[in-house]
Amino acid sequence: MVSRKLSILMVIVLMTVAVLSACKPAAETEVPVVETEPPAEATEAPEPTEEPTEEPVVITDTELNVLCTPQEQWCQGMKQEFEALYGITVNYVRMSSGESLARIQAEKDNPQFDIWWGGPIDSFVAAKGEGLLEAYDSPNYANLIDPVKYKDPDNYWVGIYVGTLGFATNTDWLAANPGVAAPTSWDDLLKPEFTGQVMVAHPSSSGTSYTALATILQIRGEEAGWEYLKQYAAQMSQYTKSGAAPAKFVGQGEAAVAIVFSHDIVNEIENNNLPLVLTFPEEGTGYEIGGMGLIKGAAHMQAAKLWFDWALTPEAQALGPVYAAYQAPTVTGVELSHPELLEVNLIDYDFQWAGEHKKEFVDKFTNEIAGAENLK
Ligand code: PLP
Repeated sequence: MVSRKLSILMVIVLMTVAVLSACKPAAETEVPVVETEPPAEATEAPEPTEEPTEEPVVITDTELNVLCTPQEQWCQGMKQEFEALYGITVNYVRMSSGESLARIQAEKDNPQFDIWWGGPIDSFVAAKGEGLLEAYDSPNYANLIDPVKYKDPDNYWVGIYVGTLGFATNTDWLAANPGVAAPTSWDDLLKPEFTGQVMVAHPSSSGTSYTALATILQIRGEEAGWEYLKQYAAQMSQYTKSGAAPAKFVGQGEAAVAIVFSHDIVNEIENNNLPLVLTFPEEGTGYEIGGMGLIKGAAHMQAAKLWFDWALTPEAQALGPVYAAYQAPTVTGVELSHPELLEVNLIDYDFQWAGEHKKEFVDKFTNEIAGAENLK
């Protein structure tokens, strides 16, 4: 009897356990292991299958107006090269630096040019100061040999070439004047044998000539520099409008010595066979960084930026010597056509100072030393 009761009790206990097990809340049931995604911050970015692509910029400009300050042959060559590459018609006008600056000042409210290419950056520094240029952060600044020196810190201008000032003396004239040597210092230009025999452009029109003026003021200091410039002016045969012209005139025998950028002298000797010898002032000479800047309010800004970027490529800068332009490049990857033109005693030319004082110094020279009438 007892064992029967026991059996019934065991069955009840077992059934109760079974029922209770079936009624276990879900939270206590064994949770199957599910592969869950790790939190977002721990997720590794998927390997990119290809480089991210930027939307291509669609250039709608079909023409570009370039204010071109270097010599005609280079302006013409660059126009043709750009047109062939991009199918955009380039219209250019060649003008000396001072004329160019005056032109963009006059057209400030209705700009006719899109980009200014070439000429010493003193004028670009002055143009930036007058709000005439548009800042641009070109991807090709990465190509510059010296980004601190060759670029405006606010991106209003960039250097596209470098050139040093030299003297060109006519060798026929030297042969006809035995005992006279080609000048090798700024003081030599003041010698009596060169009175009326020196040619330079006028600083109001020419960036070359302004570079010479600012070089003298920097070497001698302002007081002694202006004194020197008075004596220098007394030695002049004539002032020209364009900076490179004196090398040609002196080569043709119109005077004995020209003060010109050395690459222009090389051009006259090598390509035009003019009887010239190139010398440098031993105490130091000035140099230019040839500039480039976008014109504020330009009608063809897209095409202008395309030219800007292109002009900062080694391919574009390597074109200089093809068009008789022997300036040194400002970007890496271009062989110098005439490295010896940079291997001279260069002053630490202060472009900022020269640009900021351009109007003041040109006005002083024009009003107190030599007017700008009858430029050759
Ligand atoms: N032409 C050449 C070959 C130059 O190197 C430069 C200087 O940048 C110029 C012209 C400048 O012209 P300009 O002195 O008439 O302003």
